[in-house]
Amino acid sequence: MAARIPVLLSQTPYEVIVGNGILPRAGEFIRQVLPGGKCALVTDSNVGPLHGKVVLESLKSSGLDPVTITVPAGETSKSLSEVEKICDQMITSGLDRGSFVVALGGGVVGDLAGFAASVYYRGIPHVQIPTTVVAQVDSSIGGKTGVNSREGKNLIGAFHQPALVVTDPATLETLPKRELNEGFAEVIKHAVIRDADMLDELEAYSEADLPLLIARNVKIKARIVAKDEFEKAGLRALLNFGHTIGHAIENAAGYGRYLHGEAISLGLVAALDLSVEKAGLPLKDADRIRRLLEAFELPVRLPDDLSTESLMTAMRRDKKFQAGAIRFVLTEKLGSAFVSKDIIEPDLRAAIEGIREDR
Ligand code: NAD
Repeated sequence: MAARIPVLLSQTPYEVIVGNGILPRAGEFIRQVLPGGKCALVTDSNVGPLHGKVVLESLKSSGLDPVTITVPAGETSKSLSEVEKICDQMITSGLDRGSFVVALGGGVVGDLAGFAASVYYRGIPHVQIPTTVVAQVDSSIGGKTGVNSREGKNLIGAFHQPALVVTDPATLETLPKRELNEGFAEVIKHAVIRDADMLDELEAYSEADLPLLIARNVKIKARIVAKDEFEKAGLRALLNFGHTIGHAIENAAGYGRYLHGEAISLGLVAALDLSVEKAGLPLKDADRIRRLLEAFELPVRLPDDLSTESLMTAMRRDKKFQAGAIRFVLTEKLGSAFVSKDIIEPDLRAAIEGIREDR
């Protein structure tokens, strides 16, 4: 059984099809929304060998003409030079403005391939087939595509909504435990900002719950994106809960030390502390979320070798930082969040110090 979850955008509505074991039907689903012809199946060096063949066969048996493009696994592939390589391969393989891109992989492949699609021939369609928890509940939905610059994460990018998202939770079975766990940082974030009832489910979580949990999170993200496609109405900004400090940690630690979700976990703890301090969130609620993050083996303490200054430097490059103040997402009550304009540098420093190991 597959659930079809709509992302109700006024100009470019699309569906997220969620179902355990639907990967071999990817081609069939794609043909329902896109014409036949050439396409690029972009994947990475880990996911390709595990799931590439099933998707490739499915595309071919649905009458499509795919060429596979494999990028090295890992965050460093989210670069302009990799976009150029993908575009060059698409040109030499004869893809034109009638072609499209299929992104098979985690958030790195999704962001990268989606961005390549957004600039190729000034924009061709793309389909997302996410294979990590982060990608399934978050990055594949909403059309934010892009790459990193030396100066920071996701600074180069475009809004380019997918034509379709095909989400098969069974692909998560091949995900290493650490990568599976990191995705729960985004799931827990969704619960904190939008769905307090999900916290009970997460506290009683077992693996069999995963497909339903993924679908529940897809609905949360889809509804937020539909109401605020370009992050102008303030609603989509709530998804940044925990990300301001999280991105700074990721950046300051150097890509590779923390997985994205692990850095976000630390950012969530800091944002919860600030919420207690500045928004009146009960301390017991912040503690509850910290325990949940720990239950998914996510870090909740910042090691001492990451200096506060290095994080502040990284944060000043954040798109949300202006004149010493930052738009920072807080929660006053679990299940809801708001954007505060009152957080200034000393608050951020205090929050970073507050999550240190020696405290
Ligand atoms: P990732 O894409 O690097 O995947 C993590 C690792 O798991 C990689 O080594 C990958 O090769 C491997 N992998 C993926 N699927 C697998 C599977 N099924 N089996 C075995 N191995 C598998 O990382 P991620 O956590 O999925 O995504 C992080 C990226 O997503 C970051 O760049 C972040 O900025 C971005 N992101 C974007 C958005 C957005 O709205 N566009 C939202 C959240 C995160």
